[in-house]
Amino acid sequence: MSACELCDTPGGELLWQDERCRVIRVGGVEGSAFPGFCRVIWHAHVAEMSDLAVAERRHLLSVVHAVETAVRVVMHPDKINLASLGNLVPHLHWHVIPRWRDDSHFPAPIWAPACRAVPERARPSSAALTAALLRALESAA
Ligand SMILES: [Zn+2]
Repeated sequence: MSACELCDTPGGELLWQDERCRVIRVGGVEGSAFPGFCRVIWHAHVAEMSDLAVAERRHLLSVVHAVETAVRVVMHPDKINLASLGNLVPHLHWHVIPRWRDDSHFPAPIWAPACRAVPERARPSSAALTAALLRALESAA
C-alpha cells in the first residue's frame, strides 16, 4: 500500500480507463443525491492542468467532455457542473455532476449546504453509462 487512496484503489466504481486516466462512478451519499455523478481521475500525481503536457491536457479534457456527453444522454439533467478542485488528493481530477432544478442543492454548488431534501430520481445502470461513454469517446476520436 502506498498511503495514497487513489493510487491504491480506483476511487469508485471503474467505468473506463486507459493508460493515462480513468472514469469512475461516484457512489455513496453524493452518488445517490446526484445519480450519474462521475469523476475523471488522472492516474499519476499531478496537481494542476498546466503541469500536463499539451497533448495530455487535450486528452484529459476530451475524456471529461465525453463523460459530460454520456451523463447528458443517460440522465437528461437540467445542467452539468464541471469542477476541478483537488485540494485534498494529489491526483488531478474532474467532477462531472448532473444537476436538476429540484436537486438538494440547486442552484448552489453540491458542496454548499443542502437547501432541500434529495428528490426521488432513477439511478442509471453502470452499463448504460459505460455504453454512452464509449460512444462519446468514439465520436470524439
Ligand atoms: Zn496517488
